[in-house]
Order: sequence, then C-alpha cells, then structure tokens
Amino acid sequence: MPRDTSGAEALLRDVFGFDAFRPGQGEIVEAVTEGRNVLAIMPTGGGKSLCFQLPALMRGGVTVVISPLIALMRDQVRGLREAGVAAGALTSGNTEEETDAVWDGLRDGTLKLLYLAPERLAATGTQRMLAQAGIGLIAVDEAHCVSQWGHDFRPDYLRIGELRRTLDVPLAAFTATADAETQDEIVTRLFDGQTPQTFLRGFDRPNIHLAFQPKDGPRKQILSFAAARKGQSGIVYCGTRAKTETLAQALRAEGHAACHYHGGMEAGDRRHVEERFATEDGLIVVATVAFGMGVDKPDIRWVAHADLPKSIEAYYQEIGRAGRDGAPAETLTLYGPDDIRLRRAQIDEGLAPPERRAADHGRLNALLGLAEALGCRRQQLLRYFDEDAGPCGNCDLCDRPPEVFDGTEAVRKALSAALRTDQSFGAGHLIDILMGNATDKVTARRHNQLPTFGVGRDLSKGQWQAVFRQMMGHDLMRPDAERHGALVMTEAARPILRGEESIQLRRDAVVRAETRRPAVKAMVSDEDAPLLSALKAKRRALAEAARVPAYVIFPDRTLIEMAETRPATLDDMARINGVGAKKLERYGAEFLSVITGAAEDMHPTRRKLAGREAGPLYDALMQAQAALMRGADGTEKPLSCSASQLAKVAQVRPDCADGLERILGDKRTERFGLAFLDVLAEAG
Ligand code: ADP
Ligand code: ZN
Repeated sequence: MPRDTSGAEALLRDVFGFDAFRPGQGEIVEAVTEGRNVLAIMPTGGGKSLCFQLPALMRGGVTVVISPLIALMRDQVRGLREAGVAAGALTSGNTEEETDAVWDGLRDGTLKLLYLAPERLAATGTQRMLAQAGIGLIAVDEAHCVSQWGHDFRPDYLRIGELRRTLDVPLAAFTATADAETQDEIVTRLFDGQTPQTFLRGFDRPNIHLAFQPKDGPRKQILSFAAARKGQSGIVYCGTRAKTETLAQALRAEGHAACHYHGGMEAGDRRHVEERFATEDGLIVVATVAFGMGVDKPDIRWVAHADLPKSIEAYYQEIGRAGRDGAPAETLTLYGPDDIRLRRAQIDEGLAPPERRAADHGRLNALLGLAEALGCRRQQLLRYFDEDAGPCGNCDLCDRPPEVFDGTEAVRKALSAALRTDQSFGAGHLIDILMGNATDKVTARRHNQLPTFGVGRDLSKGQWQAVFRQMMGHDLMRPDAERHGALVMTEAARPILRGEESIQLRRDAVVRAETRRPAVKAMVSDEDAPLLSALKAKRRALAEAARVPAYVIFPDRTLIEMAETRPATLDDMARINGVGAKKLERYGAEFLSVITGAAEDMHPTRRKLAGREAGPLYDALMQAQAALMRGADGTEKPLSCSASQLAKVAQVRPDCADGLERILGDKRTERFGLAFLDVLAEAG
C-alpha cells in the first residue's frame, strides 16, 4: 500500500530546507520510518544522514545513532540543533554540561536523536540506560566498521547486534562500501543473519570531474592544479608522511593556506587540522589516507592524488570526499611506474592470505586500467561497480579524447626484450636494449648482441616509457618484488606475444599539466560571481560568530542558488534549497540584505542589479543626476531619467555621448551626458 509521504516531504522542506529527496532517499526514509530493518548502501555524499534523521522525527521515541567518528557526530548534532531539532551526543569529547543536558533530554523525553560513540556500548549501564530511555530506532552509520576484513574495523561495533536484540527495535545500517563480502558481514553481525530490506543506490557522482595524469614533474603538476583553484578547499593525498609536510610547505610558499596531516601526528595536532579544515574556507590539507573518515565537509571543491591510491575502491572513496554538496568539484590523480611498483610490493609483502593478495592485485589493476583508460573514465569506473552508463562529458578523456595507436608491435618487442634477458631487468635497461643504447650495463651483459637490440629505434625514450607504464597498467608485466622490481611477464600478455590479440595504447599520455583545463569551471556565471563572494563573506562572518563550520550556516549549493535566483523577499528566500524554516528565521534577513543591497525601499529596478557591478554604478548615476535635476545652475526645468534608463546606462556603459543618446534621448543627454560619462569613466 503506498504510504502517504507528505509528512516526510513537509519535514524535508521545513526542517532541512530541501525541496526534494535525492534519488533513493525517499524510499529509504519510507522504509526506515515504517520500522523495517534496512541496509542502505549509498555513495559518500549521497545524503545518508537524512535517511535516519528524518525518520527519527517521524517516529516516536529516541533514535540512537551509532557512528565511529566523534567529529562527525558533533557536526551533525550542531547541524540538527541549528535546524531546531533536539539532538545530543554522548562521546568522550563531551563536557560535563553537555552530558548532563543529554541526560535531561532523555529523562523528560524531549530528545529526538542521541548520537553515541561505539565504545559507549561497552560501558556497563549504557545498555540499561538505553533500555529505559524509550529508544524507538537504532541507526548505524559507517556500518562497514563491523567488518573484520575491512580497514575500518571497530571491535565495539560487534556489540550493536546485542543492543538490537535487547531493545528489540528496528535497525537501519548505512555504508558507502559496496562489496558483497562486507554486506554479508553486516547482515550477519547487525541483523543476526536476517536479510534486511536492502537499498543499493547508484554509485555515480556526476558532479565530480575525473582526471588522471602520468607523473611528469609531479610537484609542479600539483602546484599548478592548486594554483588554478586558489581559495577553494581541497585535499592533496600523498603516499608518505614526509611528502605531506614538504608539499604543504611548497603550497604555502605559493601563497595558499595549507597544512599537513598524517597518522604520526599528535592527536591534538590532528584535531586542530580537522577543526581548521571544517571551519575555514579555502584551506588545503595535504594528507595521508589517515585524513578521511572524519571529514564531513560538504564543500570540498577538489581532491588531488600526488601518488596513486592503493585500489579502485580507495580511489573512489577518496575522490568522493569532494563535492558532497552536489556542486561541481574536480579531481586529479597522478601515477607513474614507481607508484605501481610500490603498490604491488605493499600487497606482496603484506601478511594477507594468498586469495586476499590476489584480490588486492585485482583491485589495483582495476585502478591502473582506469588510469590508462582510452575512453570515458566514469563509464569504466561505473562498470567496475556493475553500473551501465554512457560517456559522461565530465572527465578528462571526454573533454579531449586521447590519441591512440596500435601498440601490439611495441608491446611484443618489449616483452621479447624482457624474456631474452631472463626477466631480470627493469624498464630503464630494457629501453636501452630496445633503442640500441650500448651502455656499460648493456655491453657488460652482451645485451648488444641480442636480436632485440635496437629494434625499437622508431620510438623515443619517452614513448617507450609510456609503453612500459601502460603495459604495467594493463597488467601485462609486473615488477617482481623479490628481484628489485625486475619486470616479469604475466599470463595476460601471452595472447599478445603469440599474436592472437592486439592492444591499443595511448600516444600522448604525457600532456603538460598547463595545457589542459587551465581554468576551473566557475561555480557561477561571471555576472553572479561578485554576489556569490559577498554571500560567502556574510556566511564566514556568521560562522565565525557562531563558532560553527561555514556549511552549517548554509552549504555552497544554497549560496549559489541565492546568487543565481536573487530572491527579493523572505518568501522568495524560503523557496531556496537548503533554507528551512529555522534557518530562514535565523539568517534569512541577513542574506537577503546582501542580495538586495540592504536598502529596504530600494527601487525594484535597482534591486535587480543588487550584487552586480552595475549596482553601485546605478547609485553613482543617481547621485550625478540628483545634482543636475534642475540643471548645472539649479534654475532649469526639473528633468530626470527613468529607473530603467539608468539601469540600462549602468549595464551598457556607453563611452560616448552618442551611445548615451541612444538610451536617454537628446534632452536628457544634453543635461546629464557629461556627468554620466565622467561617472562611467571613473568606474573604468
Ligand atoms: P553522506 O551520505 O556522505 O553521509 P550527507 O548525509 O553528509 O552524505 O549529505 C551530503 C550533503 O548532501 C549534505 O550537505 C546534505 O545537507 C546534502 N543533502 C542531503 N540530502 C539532500 C537533499 N534531499 N537535497 C539537497 N541536499 C541534500
Ligand atoms: Zn567521461
């Protein structure tokens, strides 16, 4: 029976300020509200929190939310309170007053959402307290933390199943991790093996631009990527702790606000960076993957990888931190032969059982395949997650398709050079052989007498490097960890060697960073940009005063919509996405005054120019006109221009009397022309 969701939609609008559910949210909200057990798999930024926050308001009793991250919990509690919802958290970071307030809210039944750190479940008394508090629903965020295979395993998550049994209430589990093993473990451990209603939301994040580049002066590549995005919040992921420090330094030297973050830092220093990142606009954090799980900032505009991530899943999770608000975001992933060697070695030297290692190589291969892709990257990425899609138009390969060539011959030559030298050498030496360079190493081993010596003179060294990199990317050759990275042929290469298969390679894989996408896709048109920055400044001031992250006031998305639609009244303002009743009351007027330029009694024509360059110009023209209303000596017949004439002058900015005359006619031009031209010239 279809359920009446109008209640949910009203809350969505009034409390959260959203016009519509994102795809998938509606069904999940419905199922959770009805009290069914639910497992929802949604990509990061898909809007999971709403899927338990909204049902919490619809259902009776308290909803317990279990989340592994204190920072994230505190953010959500803060956000909910801003929206007028009674929410509280019990974490180790609480002050005594905070904890007391939570207890009070539980006792008098006013609290709707209780966020709980998993380690709280271990404390005796917690379960008893919860049993008495009238809990109506358990929501588990980051449910994959229950998986012992996973990297985020939290032993305390294993207690959640017991809690569900004791309280005998429905449970809704949320995660972004899609793989089947993890899902099975969640079902076993959280739902005692009884399959919950499962929602698998699409994995596409269409607002994120995807791009890869082979390393070619990687520091410069990162710096130029960041330079084109100055002032925007971003993350640079690095493979080593040391690199986070040097790269952050280099970014600061170029005038960016940047700091580093890695697992070796003191907890206090780490928290400080997290705090700054959450609250400051435009900070760059250069980090290892230790920076991530706790990052709940929706307006991260870009993510760059200075080194290749370890798997396609890790890649997707890391870039997925960008653009959670749905506004355009950009990514760049650098990779090179050294990355491939390092990642392979990490897998081979790890302690995982052999099947696991083989699977890890497979996940790395999927990422390398994506790096060396010949067509739309998103299509290939989604295919890995079993989703079909057409070319996306929002990745570097859709922007400019790569030039490809039949690489079969080159690959066979390279394989033969490796085979004839017992697969004991790396790419450098093999390239010397192929190009016929009689280096000391080549002659000492008599490799200049091999039939393959010099058969590859048709390609340059750089081209051969690209061939070898792509061969590693397609897993035709693997560096052998036990022999210092000597390249060994894989089974996948055999059909090519035998001439049974051919392979296409990219020719211009190395494109200078400067030549592509020089400018960032602007978030709004030029016309709206000044207003957007004024709105952001207002938001920053309010956020600083309230000591909350900027997006808690309003996300970028909401400000963009304000800048584009320019609401003129509080009623218009209420229709903007993200402006709920509470926020309208609290901030509506302040943002409105930025848009309308403060003056309540502003002429509607002038109001249309609010926030645009023409606005102040209009005001200056008004002033000039007022001075000449009765002519230069104050004795002539009163004359003035209409508001729309002034607006037109302010927008068109004619640079001569003729241009003015076309707008104002001759009489007005005669009286105001010179003064207006002065005003226009001054505005430059
Ligand atoms: P995640 O799935 O990663 O937990 P969040 O719940 O943090 O994602 O939501 C990501 C962003 O999307 C937040 O800024 C949130 O306010 C916004 N959001 C969620 N639902 C909607 C919606 N229906 N319409 C517009 N924005 C939404
Ligand atoms: Zn594409």
